[in-house]
Amino acid sequence: MTETGASALAFLDAELSELRARGIFRYPRVLDSPQQAVAVVDGRKVINLSSNNYLGLANHPYLKETAEKAVRDWGVGSGAVRPIIGTLRMHEELERRIAAFKKTEAALVFQSGFTANAGTVAAILGKEDVIVSDELNHASIIDGCRLSRAEIRIFPHRDVEALRRLLEEARPKARRILVVTDGVFSMDGDIAPLPEIVRVAREFGAITMVDDAHASGVLGKNGRGSVDHFGLHGQLDIQVGTLSKAIGVLGGYVAGSRSLIDYLIARARPFLFSTSHPPAVTAACLAAFDLLEREPERIQRLWDNTRYFKDGLKRIGFDTGASETPITPVIVGDEGKAMRLSDELFDLGVFAQGIVYPTVPRGKARVRTIVTAEHTRDDLDRALEAFEQAGRRIGVVS
Ligand code: PMP
Repeated sequence: MTETGASALAFLDAELSELRARGIFRYPRVLDSPQQAVAVVDGRKVINLSSNNYLGLANHPYLKETAEKAVRDWGVGSGAVRPIIGTLRMHEELERRIAAFKKTEAALVFQSGFTANAGTVAAILGKEDVIVSDELNHASIIDGCRLSRAEIRIFPHRDVEALRRLLEEARPKARRILVVTDGVFSMDGDIAPLPEIVRVAREFGAITMVDDAHASGVLGKNGRGSVDHFGLHGQLDIQVGTLSKAIGVLGGYVAGSRSLIDYLIARARPFLFSTSHPPAVTAACLAAFDLLEREPERIQRLWDNTRYFKDGLKRIGFDTGASETPITPVIVGDEGKAMRLSDELFDLGVFAQGIVYPTVPRGKARVRTIVTAEHTRDDLDRALEAFEQAGRRIGVVS
């Protein structure tokens, strides 16, 4: 409290009241069951179309057993940051596994995809540099760009000609240039034109980086990601991925050359200054990579479900944007309407999150759906029925 009795934080309530009045402030819904295709959310059993648990590994018996064994053998905490005494033998094993999966020389595990992106961009670029970034790149890339203090130039979504113009402008003044893009865009489900981006970036001698958070475990052979999908092995400098989505656990990683990884070991601040993953998390990630190799049919099921559900939404008349992957937005436009659609769906037994500014641009509010390999046809049919009913009631489709 200030001397006059007014709270110095009063502005928080003013802003929150405005958000509440617009119907877009919500406490997150709470999961009362494991993360799975049909889950209990806020005490209610619903078809879950909101997780990133693409392959249904978050509650998989093999991952759970492996994690339990790791707790028994290794305890629950890693006890330190990586460079002190927090590097477990299994961290190294996971890094070798990821490097082999991504077909790179080396890899480095981070606490999250967020810290992998932000920590890497901030470590590699500095004040004398220019970063050229797709306008829809993930927040963790944007924060990394800001932390680096490099000049940030944004190109319109997937626009390679605009990227080229920005590179032409940047070349004379920049010490280094980074071109960075998501592999699959998290709110739209479309895929970056990686071959064209790499070609243009190389012409200008730029460093290339792709964030494959939503492509790893989803695109390419055995889910190797967008680089494999486009046959670009060896052509991208930095590949980031997450262990929190298709892998089903938690964490992020960078895959690339030995020099890149050694440099990050010396310079990436989340690696240097934040405690490493506990044994259970690391062991469960290793188990997930076993399953990716042993059971590639999971990825096939994910894609069969994706096609079925996307076609169903389009048939009803929804605008699903440019999505090409299991992330399918139902674009509504108006923020209040998008949140109402999400609420109506919940009442009908379907959980699909409403997404508004600043997560997506103003006027592009949506309900985002993500199917998984675990959903049955019956789950998807029931979800489509609910979408049709709720969409008609709110006037999103006629
Ligand atoms: N990149 C993208 C494109 C993402 O969608 C996310 C997760 N929302 C991340 C990075 C961050 O990954 P994590 O959740 O593992 O921190």
